[in-house]
Parts: sequence; C-alpha cells; structure tokens
Amino acid sequence: MSVHVKISDIFGSNVFSMAVMRERLPKRAYAEIVQVMEHGGNISMTTADIVANAMKDWAVEKGATHYTHWFQPLTGVTAEKHDSFLTAPQDSRTLLQLTGKQLIMGEPDASSFPSGGLRATHYARGYTAWDMTSPAFVKEMACGTILCIPTIFVSYNGEALDKKTPLLRSMEAIDAQAMRILRLFGNTEAKKVFPSVGPEQEYFLVDREKYLQRRDLIYTGRTLFGAPAPKGQELDDQYFGVIRPRVGAFMADLNQELWKLGIPATTQHNEVAPAQHEMAPIYTMCNLAVDQNQLAMETMKRVATRHGLVCLLHEKPYAGVNGSGKHNNWSIGTDTGENLLDPGDTPNENLQFLLVLACIMKAVDTHADLLRCSASNAGNEHRLGAQEAPPAIISIFLGDQLDDVVNQIVSNAESIKLLASGTLDSGVSTVPVINKDATDRNRTSPFAFTGNKFEFRMVGSSASIADANITLNAIVAEAMCEAADELEQAEDFHAACSALIHKWMTKHQRIVFNGNGYSDAWIAEAARRQLPNLPSLVDAVPSLTTEKAEALFGRFGIYTKSELEARAEIMYETYVKVIKIEANTMIHMASKHYIPAAITFTTRLGESMSAVSGACPEADLSVQRRLLKQVSECLADASTALEQLKPLMGRVDSIQDLQEMAHAYHDAVVPAMDALRHPVDELELLVDKDIWPVPTYGDLMFEV
Ligand code: ADP
Ligand code: MG
Repeated sequence: MSVHVKISDIFGSNVFSMAVMRERLPKRAYAEIVQVMEHGGNISMTTADIVANAMKDWAVEKGATHYTHWFQPLTGVTAEKHDSFLTAPQDSRTLLQLTGKQLIMGEPDASSFPSGGLRATHYARGYTAWDMTSPAFVKEMACGTILCIPTIFVSYNGEALDKKTPLLRSMEAIDAQAMRILRLFGNTEAKKVFPSVGPEQEYFLVDREKYLQRRDLIYTGRTLFGAPAPKGQELDDQYFGVIRPRVGAFMADLNQELWKLGIPATTQHNEVAPAQHEMAPIYTMCNLAVDQNQLAMETMKRVATRHGLVCLLHEKPYAGVNGSGKHNNWSIGTDTGENLLDPGDTPNENLQFLLVLACIMKAVDTHADLLRCSASNAGNEHRLGAQEAPPAIISIFLGDQLDDVVNQIVSNAESIKLLASGTLDSGVSTVPVINKDATDRNRTSPFAFTGNKFEFRMVGSSASIADANITLNAIVAEAMCEAADELEQAEDFHAACSALIHKWMTKHQRIVFNGNGYSDAWIAEAARRQLPNLPSLVDAVPSLTTEKAEALFGRFGIYTKSELEARAEIMYETYVKVIKIEANTMIHMASKHYIPAAITFTTRLGESMSAVSGACPEADLSVQRRLLKQVSECLADASTALEQLKPLMGRVDSIQDLQEMAHAYHDAVVPAMDALRHPVDELELLVDKDIWPVPTYGDLMFEV
C-alpha cells in the first residue's frame, strides 16, 4: 500500500460516472440519459443497448468479468447475483456482451428474500430495474471484479420489495411539495428540490484471531457475555485520540477503496469507546448517500479482513461502553444550490426559512412515532431508551438563537429580534477572536439543528439509512403540502404565511427541547407534553400501520397499505429471529464453553486443596474454600438460568401471532438471557485466565 496517494487520480476511478458517459457515449444517447435522469420517463431500447455496451467495455477494461443488478432487499443489506459477460461461443470465438435488456431489467429468483407476505412463494417473481440516478460501478472482490448496476426491486404487481423504491418515491414527494413552497416565494429558477444526506458511520475494530474465538461475535455481531475490563471509556482518552498504527493503516486503505468507488470519505477519528472509530463522507444526494453508505459498510468489512481485523457494525458490540450509531445529517436544497435549511444571517426575517422550520416542527411532532420506528432494529434496542445516546423520545434541538426566535413568534412579538451569537474570545492574545456558531451542540438530542441541516442521531450503525430518510422526506413533504394547500389560496401571501408559521410553531412547540435528553426529568417532562415514549422496537412497529401512517404514505404513493403491513411484519420477524439466534448462541456458549470451564476450575481447585491438606493438614485453605464456594454458586446460577432459558424458547416459539411472539421475546426471552449472562460474567472474574475459554473484553478492546 502506497502512502503517497493522489486523491484526484483515484477518486471515482471505479465509477461509470456522468463524465465517463459523456466521454464514451454518442451525443444523442448521452442527451437521452440526461433527459430521463432529470425529468423521468424511459430510454429507448436502442439507447439502452448503446449504454450497456459502453458500460461493459468500460468495466472489462477495469478487469470486470461479471455484471450484477445490485439491489437493497428488505434484509437491510445489499444483494447481488453475478452473471458473466460471456455469450455462447460463436465460430469458436468468445464474445463478451451486455445488452440493453440485461442492463434495464433482471428477474432474480427472489423467493427467499423477505417480502412480509407481499409475495407468496408460488408467485415469487421479483424484478430488478435499473436506477439511473445512481451510477454503475465496479467492485473489486475476491471472486473477481464485478460491474454493479444499481437497481430497484419490485414484485410482479409492482409492490416495493426493497428500500430503494420507496426512497425514490419519497424524494419525488418532497421535490413536488417543496417546489410549491418555493414558487409561492417567487422562486422561478429552481427546477428541482432534493434532500441531501451525510451519514456519519461509527464502527468497532477487533483483532480477527480473537474474534474467531468468540461464537457470539461470529453469529450475532456482538458479545453476549463479558465482564467489564478494568478500564473502559472513563478517561475519555480514546475520543479523538492519536490513531494507532494498525487502525491507521486500515483507515488509509479504506479511504482509498472508498475514493475509488466515488465515495467522498472525509472524516476519520477515534470514537468514545476503546477500539471504536468513525468515518464520515461528504454529504450527497439522498439516494446516492444511501447506496454509498451500504457500499461503505461492505467495504469496511472487506478492508478490515486484509488487516487481520474484523469491522463490527453492530449497534452494541460490548456492554458497558458506548454503542455505535449513524448520525443522519439531512437537508433539502434546490438544483440551483439553495439550501432550504440555511437560516442566513437573519433567520428572524427569513420568512421562507421560518415556514420550512414550522413544517419540520409540525412533521416531527405529528409523526414522532414513525421517526422512532424508522431507527428501530434489534441492535438499536441497546441504545435507544436504554440509558444510552440518544433517548427513545423524539424531540428537536434548535439551539438558543432559533429557540428564541420560535418563542418570540409563539408569543406574538411585535418585531422578532435576533439573539446575538457573539464572538468567542479565548483570552489568549495571540489567538484570533472568532465568531461563535449560532447553535451549540447537544449530544443528547435525537434530532438536532446544526446550522444548516438536521442531524437525526437515532439510526443504528448497522442499519440502512433508507428507512430514516424515507420517513423524513415523507413527513416533511406532507407538512409542506398542507402549507402549500393553504397558502396557494391566500389573498395576502405574507400575512397568511406569517399566520401559519405562528399557528404551527405554537401548536408544535412541545416537540422542541433544548435540555439534557438523558435525564429522568426529561422523561417526566415529555410525558407531561404527551410526546410518545416508545422504549422498544416492539412498541414502535405498530406506528407503521396506523391510519395516520397509511394516510401519509398513501397520499404520496410511497407505501400502500399492504407494503406498510409487510414492513411491520418483517420488522417483527427479523427482531424475533435476531433474538432467537442470540439466545441460541448463549445456550451454546454457556453449555459448551463457560460451564465446562468453571467445572474444570472447581475440579482443579478441589484437587489442589486435597493435595495441600495432604501435604500440610494444618494449612489454611479458607481462601480456596471461599473461592470454591463463590464459583460453585455462580455455576449453579448459570445452570439454573440455562435450564430456564431452553424451555422458555420452546414456549415462545409456539406462539402463533407474530406480534405477540415478538413481545414475548422482548418481555420474557431478553430478561432470561440477562439472567444467564450475569452469573457467567461473575465467573469470568473468578476463574483463572488460562482456563477461561474466550478472549475477554480487555483482550478484545485493548489489543487492536
Ligand atoms: P460533526 O457533526 O461530526 O462535527 P459535521 O456536522 O460537519 O460533522 O458533518 C457531519 C456530516 O454532515 C458530514 O457527512 C457532512 O458532509 C454532512 N453535512 C454537512 N452539511 C450538510 C448539509 N447541508 N446537508 C446534509 N449533510 C450535511
Ligand atoms: Mg455531526
């Protein structure tokens, strides 16, 4: 690996970008592609053939042997099936080919992907269709170099079987509604509004050799047992600390791989927990950001292997230290470069910004349950509502200046004044006095305004960011639609707009909270404000199938009722499966690793005690006796918990109704798993290290 990399030489080199298309396609074909990308519609078969051929030639030059329709089924990860470019040999020559038809559409045998009942196996057809808005790319893998064509994935009846179709639908919704708002403000230039997203990705690295000794990490991505190491994150010495050489080599390699794929990885640093790190790319258009985040996660795992490491994307690999999230930075802007979330220097006078803000307050307050649901997966259960960042209650952080503006609007102030953000004088004469940001940071807020974007901080580190962005786009589109419906009828636009802003900010101000989101006081305060508190995934999933949700998603054609029901079913089903795998892994590890190790320990100790008293009958064996008693007690507790967990699993699995089963897993199985973990973790602190069968937290987190 070269240390001297010229970013400009490699950036995007594996992407079939617009620039490559402009260079390689005949003018007419290129123009047709641009036309369809900007305005929708279909490209002709002739053009499809030309583009496919150019794409194939480009990919083959890059060493590609296969192509794939790359899609995002409801598993939350990506899927691909490779087909080579080979055609049947003609005249003993081998021809390589990619036809327009192969580019545009595929029909993978897709019966094994989760469909939530949208597709019974006897009519299992699913179709992939080319998503032109996301560029094709080549991926260099152990199995070869593969041309990846981003696609959507739909059923025979056109129902979305993936996360991308509804995402694209939600982007069309916010485009249409935000354009109506812009036109009301006299903007005639913008032709398109789209959301931009910058996802900050947190992850852990662990030594691969040690990882392979932990069945829990292998099967579930997190440790299911493990006593705290003597040192955790209490000294805050890991956060932004100097990056260790092995981790640094991984990061350098990762950056290069991401840059080749056109992913603008820019930020890298150590995170709060030992062996925890973060990578953030520069923000880009929402659908591309979703694709790129998927690719980034996959690339992180692949590159880690090269360095003898494993990249853990699980939300909570280790108990007792911070888990990992994915801060979804979101804004909406026009094709002419205007950011609708930019307050400018005088937000108090910026009516358009205030209307957009009022829409967002209304959207988040009205659909807090859906936003919470959009960040729910089994791994995130350990973060949201579980004494860790951020809380499960949705609220908005605005910062002092905007909060003050909202307060003045709500109290009908004559003229709205702006709190001076002021300057920051460090008192060091050689350091320049700097202008302060208008908002401070609030790490405890799940939805924080950070200058010219909102940062949705709830999303789990392993999850696709599609669900969160589909929800954000949809709920804000709805509020904008209602605003436009009302304001388009107004005789005096400015007066009507000011009145609407006042009305909505007053009604929805309860969602604004600038204080400490981790405190118990906030939980009580939120209850007083009647904000939903959905501590668990099983509490959040019903929000998908309320009349409110159906009206929202149905109105913009983002999800039909059956698509929503399917998603709710898949969420329960996946949750149940994940917990079941975890419980089974615990049973395995307790029976095969921990209990035998503890028995070995007691046997050895017993034997050595006999030997000692044989050699010296008056020797003091009180220490050994105490240890033997402690270990035997923990052993008995572990065995009891194990014997309770096994039949419990059988009982819970026989429940017919999926939602009920998910609740039973949550209410009964999870506590039973905790009951097993506790005595085993105690044992770890008592039993000799050389008998302990797996690497400990200290080994895993501090020896990377
Ligand atoms: P941090 O919060 O860690 O200090 P930043 O807030 O500067 O970092 O940026 C975090 C992410 O937000 C990056 O991916 C960045 O590209 C993205 N971002 C910055 N501006 C915007 C914007 N207007 N819209 C969406 N994402 C943005
Ligand atoms: Mg940030």
